Amino acid sequence: MLDSAPNRPELPPEIARRRTFAIISHPDAGKTTLTEKFLLYGGAIQMAGQVRAKGEARRTRSDFMKMEQDRGISVSASAMSFDFDGFRFNLVDTPGHSDFSEDTYRTLTAVDAAVMVIDGAKGVESQTQKLFEVCRLRDLPILTFCNKMDRESRDTFEIIDEIQENLAIDVTPASWPIGVGRDFIGCYDLLRDRLELMDRADRNKVAESIEINGLDDPALADHVPADLLEKFLEEVEMAKELLPQLDPQAVLEGHMTPIWFGSAINSFGVQELMHGISQYGPEPQPQSAEPRQMAPEEKKVAGFVFKVQANMDPKHRDRVAFVRMASGHFKRGMKLTHVRTKKPMAVSNPVLFLASDRELAEEAWAGDIIGIPNHGQLRIGDTLTEGEALRVTGIPSFAPELLQGVRAGDPMKSKHLEKALMQFAEEGAAKVFKPSIGSGFIVGVVGALQFEVLASRIEMEYGLPVRFEASQFTSARWVHGPKDAVEKFANANKQHISHDHDGDIVYLTRLQWDIDRVGRDYPDVTLSATKEMM
Ligand code: GDP
Repeated sequence: MLDSAPNRPELPPEIARRRTFAIISHPDAGKTTLTEKFLLYGGAIQMAGQVRAKGEARRTRSDFMKMEQDRGISVSASAMSFDFDGFRFNLVDTPGHSDFSEDTYRTLTAVDAAVMVIDGAKGVESQTQKLFEVCRLRDLPILTFCNKMDRESRDTFEIIDEIQENLAIDVTPASWPIGVGRDFIGCYDLLRDRLELMDRADRNKVAESIEINGLDDPALADHVPADLLEKFLEEVEMAKELLPQLDPQAVLEGHMTPIWFGSAINSFGVQELMHGISQYGPEPQPQSAEPRQMAPEEKKVAGFVFKVQANMDPKHRDRVAFVRMASGHFKRGMKLTHVRTKKPMAVSNPVLFLASDRELAEEAWAGDIIGIPNHGQLRIGDTLTEGEALRVTGIPSFAPELLQGVRAGDPMKSKHLEKALMQFAEEGAAKVFKPSIGSGFIVGVVGALQFEVLASRIEMEYGLPVRFEASQFTSARWVHGPKDAVEKFANANKQHISHDHDGDIVYLTRLQWDIDRVGRDYPDVTLSATKEMM
């Protein structure tokens, strides 16, 4: 196994074999299909097709609602664990819709690497680019899978060039495709010197894998038609000259991405990619926290909440907090300290997510994702430890880009509405602001679709029809500064002041000019578009 960071102590084997990652891609590139095949090879599902319900739920509102109704599926797909070749893979799902950038950002704080899936005919698309930038902020290692090679695709060099240019990362081929489109017959595994031949007739069949004694092995000609072979050898020759060699350390540092070519729907290239994740993907990494970082090899257990999903069962108002284990060996029933409230918390029914099922987690190691059902105590950004007052950092909350007022259809139900809104705010599904003057609430989101989703969920989960209406404000900024300066500022600007669900002061306005003016008039006060969740 690779030594991911020479100056770090060796991890206990149970932790060292964990690979916790997310898939980033543009809609339609094949994320769902690839996930299915991962699970198939991971032995977690019998037949591909089970994650379909979720994969198809995207883009249109009605589809989205269907997914929301079927929360069992979407939830179990939020984090999936499976074993492959002695490794434990934890795949954390990134929300598919481009609206949910904050959610996505938080998801990426819970992983150690990302698999970037691109469509061989389309190359690097907008959503991939955006997600890549988020990964870059965290220096996450990226492994690339170029999908749909069974169809007409771009020239291999062109694809690699585009990734290098658009994403400013070195690309090194881990495999090389032979033939294009209808003539595509498979790939040469450059890392393990094997010829992998795709079976077009049986999509679930594992590719035929032939050991080859290097590129001059005459055996190649037994399997590859002469014209394809000639072109392939020429290309690989050129690739060796033009492209960098695989440098595992550069991959771990996020400067280089190995690329595999394949076809998820034909189950082709997927195992090679999985093998790549196990060999070149990082072991569980330390997490940044205050006053010190949390390291996976520490004996004591620590973890943090990166996602909360509410109302999985509307009758019970339960919620599941998704916790990334940051250190130690957790056992069911352990008493942990909820650092924010300093209260002990017995974790007696944590769940582990296996493809389409969830089951009790008897134990978990650093790197794992467990779900902890709770009644709202656990919030995004919370840290759980065995007593030490550590607080995970780097899980920001971003200012919403769209604001609307919200009212209950029945004015008698406004208390009820407040409760519903607070729950969604804690889940991270929206920002909720209570203006200090007047009644009602202002809801902030990143994408317009979220208003519809919220309205529908409030009605479905709380039996409460609501109306969203235009707000006089368009921007929200958290107010920071010394207490008396903030108070003075708030008192003088009452009509702009509101509180978020944590009780933090937020300045609402419709003018950038206002924000600039505050900077001039109140030098002790800062207005910020992000706040660290705590
Ligand atoms: P997602 O939006 O990224 O989750 O993409 P999906 O996995 O839902 O795939 C989008 C479409 O591409 C579906 O119709 C898939 O059947 C199809 N698809 C996925 N992988 C391949 C592939 O390797 N070859 C071809 N031809 N189609 C594929």
